[in-house]
Amino acid sequence: MDTLVMQTRCVREACFQTEATLMAELAQGQHPSLLYIGCSDSRILPSHILDAHPGTVFTTRNIANIVPPYSAMAQGEMAVAAVLEYAVLHLKVADIVLCGHSCCGGMQALAHVEALEPGLRRWLQYAQEAQTRVPPEVADAARLDALIEANVLLQLDHLRSYPFIAEAERTGTLRLHGWVYDLASERVRAYEAEVDCFVEEAPFGV
Ligand SMILES: [Zn+2]
Repeated sequence: MDTLVMQTRCVREACFQTEATLMAELAQGQHPSLLYIGCSDSRILPSHILDAHPGTVFTTRNIANIVPPYSAMAQGEMAVAAVLEYAVLHLKVADIVLCGHSCCGGMQALAHVEALEPGLRRWLQYAQEAQTRVPPEVADAARLDALIEANVLLQLDHLRSYPFIAEAERTGTLRLHGWVYDLASERVRAYEAEVDCFVEEAPFGV
């Protein structure tokens, strides 16, 4: 913990030297243009993927980059819903990036979800449908990669189940993006609806 405190102090001092003006401006308020929804995995640094600076990306992360569907609010599932409401209705972000990643432990756990603790079991139910979207003959490493992509598309569907998100997308004030980040290569593949598959894409700087 002492090391962590020291690291934080060093980063803060470096930040003040290089970004003092920016941080003083940001102290007055935030106006991010992007909401990033990603996995909690320790190997993922959203600001690194996006080459982002302070104040540009509103972020929420959880196991397996899940967005519970709108209907789950009736069961008290509010954490991600509150982020969506604030980002879209108050901050008025123009883009939402939903980013899965290779080697995702949450996706690997889907195969034996019944053996997990109750919190994990309940949470991962919102990704379970990804399993049925991948044909049973796809196996081993290819199955995990396919599951990760299917889950990104499933969570985009869940995003669109929120009326205010569907409406903002329909009127063109909001764009939704499905990405998969590859840990080993640090490359991003983005879903292209026109060709219905993920294609390699350079991350956009924000
Ligand atoms: Zn993960």
